[in-house]
Parts: sequence; structure tokens; C-alpha cells
Amino acid sequence: MTSFEPTPDFAAQLDAQDPLREFRNQFYIPLGPNGQESVYMCGNSLGLQPRTARAAAERQFTNWEEMAVEGHFRGDTPWMNFHARLTEATARIVGANPLEVVVMNNLTTNLHLLLISFYRPTISRYKVLMESSAFPSDQYALESQVRLHGLSPDNTIVELAPRPGEHTLRTEDIVAKINELGGSLATVIMGGLNYYTGQVYDMAAITQAGHAVGAKVGFDLAHAAGNIPLHLHDWDVDFACWCTYKYLNSGPGGVAGAFVHERFANQPELLRLAGWWGHDEEERFKMRKGFRPMRGAAGWQLSNSSILTMAVHEAALAVHDAAGGMAALRRKSELLTGYLEFLIKRLELPETQLEVITPTNPAERGCQLSLLVHQNGRELFDHLMDAGIIGDWREPNVIRLAPVPLYNTFQDVQRVGVVLAEWAATQR
Ligand SMILES: *Cc1c(COP(=O)(O)O)cnc(C)c1O
Repeated sequence: MTSFEPTPDFAAQLDAQDPLREFRNQFYIPLGPNGQESVYMCGNSLGLQPRTARAAAERQFTNWEEMAVEGHFRGDTPWMNFHARLTEATARIVGANPLEVVVMNNLTTNLHLLLISFYRPTISRYKVLMESSAFPSDQYALESQVRLHGLSPDNTIVELAPRPGEHTLRTEDIVAKINELGGSLATVIMGGLNYYTGQVYDMAAITQAGHAVGAKVGFDLAHAAGNIPLHLHDWDVDFACWCTYKYLNSGPGGVAGAFVHERFANQPELLRLAGWWGHDEEERFKMRKGFRPMRGAAGWQLSNSSILTMAVHEAALAVHDAAGGMAALRRKSELLTGYLEFLIKRLELPETQLEVITPTNPAERGCQLSLLVHQNGRELFDHLMDAGIIGDWREPNVIRLAPVPLYNTFQDVQRVGVVLAEWAATQR
């Protein structure tokens, strides 16, 4: 890994040795402005479409066409408990027992549902800890949850910011803040992998620290699920949620996931917003009064499943599994992102112009690198886009590039290096 080279031949050689090289062919690669396949570095925002996705959805169109309402109970994929078809593969992705996960709704919806159960402020214990640069939807969700309890966000939500001059949070500072808040801390809710910086937080350490002061701990895994290895059960995390359209390739607005630790599996009295799909399956259609939740995360379901998006999700999860799951993806991912990092360092641009704010330690990042471009950032972004490299721009001046091990190649990364070097040459 120390001996990367910037040449196309070297990149082609890495691709030839890549055990996952065939998986790119299982996705549609959008064309760039020059009519050639683009270099898609935006899987952190919307993963590419697996070629099997359309047929999976069409199969359900056919079931609907042929069986109509009977499709809930008949056919080879009865809709009545379709969510159960996704449980095993989902549990593998997040490191959970099948009982602990459920696929339902969308991400922010699931965040709200889980906060209802795991943010239960009392007179003395009411504060919430989150990272200062959390994704806006998470901030809005939390503010409104706090208001729901008649509290004011200003003296309830505690935001953790990096030290002056630093871009990422130190675990020791997160733990120190948790200890400082102590008995006033109700809930910690953070991104598992910060969407802006690409930093992976030490979820095990944060959970342990939170539990030590009696708080609940949850993570938004939008940028972590399908990107980094997760062990939610072993880390003892209380709750988590994620979307499936980023690194899980399940389509725009696709169905989302939720995790609730096993220790809450048999607590029907645990407060939640209830709906009929979370009600005991055996009795669901008896249409009786009195909510009796299913065991585990399934007991947080509200509505009957969104079958079309779930069918696509199932097809996408099958591709992840066929690739060998997170362990295999991670091996390639570290190499791929390491190569991108190598090419960026080679530009030898001063930090006053361009800094990678994502941690350099592979254990503290996923596939994404965030480039903080102090000068002419928008110009660089446009230059990349013109060259058919699709990344994304985050105000005020960050370019996020995410080489995804399932479908990106070392030659993709090499091309990014070439285009970055062209731009760097104009900056001196
Ligand atoms: C992508 C993302 C979202 C988006 O929320 P939706 O409910 O899926 O629209 C929310 N939070 C984080 C941290 C994200 O990365």
C-alpha cells in the first residue's frame, strides 16, 4: 500500500488483481458529458442502480397485476411479512441479530420513531448530545423532539464541536463531554460516520461512556451502513437508523432501516408510536383494540410495507452479499480510498489551498474523502464535473469524493488524480 504509483498502468494492474472487479458490471454507470462512462464518486449521496433492481420491482408489479389483494398472502413473496425477507441480510450489514433490525419507512421518520422511545426526558435528565455539524434533517428532528416535550432546544441540545483549528472530533473530548453532562444526559445521538468530514466515530466507546452515566445512545448510520463494518449488537448500541439509497444502492427515497437492541425486544411497555404493522402478527387481522407489539425491532413498524421499494432493496442487498459482505468490501475500500489519498497528497498543494479533512487513519473513515478547498473550490468542482467526474459540493467549500468498492475502479481513481493534477497546475 505504501508503493502506489500514479500511472494508468499501475491502476489497471490493481483492477486486474481486484477480486471484486466483476461487480461493476452489475450496476448501470451513468454517462458523462463526453458520452463515456462517468467516474461516479457520489455513492455517498445516491448509490448506483443494480441491474437486477428493475426486474425485482417488476416482479411485484406482476404479482399486483395477477393477484391484487391476494398478493398479501399468496405467491412466492407474500407482502404480509415481506419485511422479514430483508432481516437476515440487514442484520449482517449492521452487525445485529435479526430480531434487532427492521426495514421500514424512511430515515428521518425512523429517527423520530426511535427518539420517541429513547429520548424520554425527565426534570433532571433531559439533555441530548449530538455533533455540531450533524446532517440538517437530524438537527431538525431533534429540535422538534425536544419541543414536543415542552423543552427549549437552546438549553437542551448540547453540540460537540472540534477543537479550534481541527476539523474532526476527538473521542476523548466526546467521552469527556458525556461525563461532564453526567446525570443530566438523557440521550446521545450522533452520525456513525459524519456526512461532511467522513469521520467515523468510535461508536463502542461512545456507547460505553453514555451507558456509564445512564444515558441512551443511538446513531444515524446513513453514511455508515454498507460503507464500514458495524457491530451494533456487540457495541451495545441502544438504537440506530439508516437509509438504503446511499451505500446500499436501493434507489432514491428507498425504504430505510432501524435497529433496536435485543434488551428492549421484550418490553411491550416501552413507549412508542404504534401502528397495526407493529402489532403481534398472529392477531394483526383480528382488528382488536389494545396494541401488543411484535418482539424486537419489528414492533416499531407502523404501516404495511412499501413493497416496491423493499423489492429493490432486497435485490440490492443480494449484490452486497454476493460480493462477500462488508469484510470483502472493506478490504478493497481501504485500498481504493488509500489510492485516492495518495494521488491528492502528490499534488503537494499548500494546506492554505486544499486540505483533506477526513481522518488519515483508515479505521476512522469509510470510503469518502472530504476536500476542503480554501481557494477556487467551486472552480475545481466544475472542472471535475466537466471531466465526467461526479462528486458533490457541500457549502461553503467542501468537495466529497466517495470511491465505492462495489463499482468504482482503481482506474476511476487514477482519472480523478489526473484531473486534480491538471487543476493544481493552474493554481501555482
Ligand atoms: C442522507 C441523510 C439523511 C436523509 O434523510 P431522509 O430521511 O432519508 O431524507 C438524514 N440524515 C443523515 C445523517 C443523512 O446522511
